[in-house]
Amino acid sequence: MESKITGGCHCGAIRYRCSRPVHLPAYCHCQSCRRIVGAHAVAWFTVPVEELHFGALRPTQYPSSPGVTRSHCSACGTTLTYWNEKDPGVIDVTVASLDAPGLAAPGRHIWMEDAVAGDSPNDGLPRFPQDG
Ligand SMILES: [Zn+2]
Ligand SMILES: [Zn+2]
Repeated sequence: MESKITGGCHCGAIRYRCSRPVHLPAYCHCQSCRRIVGAHAVAWFTVPVEELHFGALRPTQYPSSPGVTRSHCSACGTTLTYWNEKDPGVIDVTVASLDAPGLAAPGRHIWMEDAVAGDSPNDGLPRFPQDG
């Protein structure tokens, strides 16, 4: 039986629980993720849409690009999810919002072609120019 994992935003208004990742989590270095979060990279893990359950409050939806909806806490700004209509059955969740981020340790770097100058991870994980 899958154990549930939990997380939430910085202020605590948004809480969620979900299943374990369905594939290897990734650090994304793309321009959209960078600007949404204001950081050089964002760690994501993926779960089936029906396996992500929010508490009393749901995050605010934001259409960040055609076909893509991201969500964040409207009170504190924490980025929580990424959903793409090209793969509607799954949703990405930020590893950093987990209560125990070690449960979804990233194993690859994606969109390295968008990485900011000096962002050159040297952790031995595979690096991909785009999605990988
Ligand atoms: Zn919040
Ligand atoms: Zn990205």
